[in-house]
Amino acid sequence: MAVKDSRSGVGRGLHGITASNSNTRISATRIPNRLASGSPVAALASENLGLNSERMREAMVQRLHAQGITHDQVLAAMQLIPRHVFVDQALASRAYDDASLPIGHGQTISQPWVVARMIAAVCNATMPARVLEVGTGCGYQAAVMAKVFAQVHSIERIRALYDTAKEHLRLLRLTKVRLVHGDGMLGLPSVAPFDAIVVAAAGIRIPQALLAQLRIGGVLIAPEGTSAQRLIRVTRTGASSWDRQELEEVRFVPLKAGVQT
Ligand code: SAH
Repeated sequence: MAVKDSRSGVGRGLHGITASNSNTRISATRIPNRLASGSPVAALASENLGLNSERMREAMVQRLHAQGITHDQVLAAMQLIPRHVFVDQALASRAYDDASLPIGHGQTISQPWVVARMIAAVCNATMPARVLEVGTGCGYQAAVMAKVFAQVHSIERIRALYDTAKEHLRLLRLTKVRLVHGDGMLGLPSVAPFDAIVVAAAGIRIPQALLAQLRIGGVLIAPEGTSAQRLIRVTRTGASSWDRQELEEVRFVPLKAGVQT
């Protein structure tokens, strides 16, 4: 495989490590939590967290814009999907913070900036249609992707999280997302090639099986590394050539082989 390497700071300097939780941008700006707490989470989309969750999302979207996310469709999708539905009731009041949060089984829901950045990074002039996510977790990113792309497939290796994500997507009537319980390091050969692949867990190297399942011209984004991690954007330029670009420093949960039942 021929991989061309180009490093890009994409105009966003790193200012030292200020956050160390998972699925987070390392230099994340901490925004104070302005939300009310202790409210019911059963209520959906526009429902109440003590304040109007739609307004909380509006504030989140404004913050994402200020942090450099300018892709209209991505911002519109982040405005639509109620993130509080995807976290435990006890954490619902923090759902619109710019932070990753625990979702059980040692995993996390990614920080909103990370979700928006990854989705925007695979959007070219021609929007990808068939997209694969590796690492469904609670299903939040898959839900946002469902508002941006025509066809979304997502794989999760932990059975309990796969079940939870399925329930979240059913509640929001996002049943067009195709969820799979399996090892995402192997991709989904029966559905490939994909126009875009978004990997939500960090491996030492991006699995070759995923690079092989990108169509020519397609884009993959994944965190790479162990203790020091960076987002990597790979564009498939030919049958056996990929172009590699290094983006921001991040911290993700590990990409693991096999499944957990
Ligand atoms: N996309 C999520 C982030 C989930 S965290 C969001 O919306 O916030 C990353 C997830 O990747 C975890 O649930 C973890 O179990 C899963 N994961 C790790 N290795 C995997 C693999 N090989 N295949 C599928 N899922 C994997």
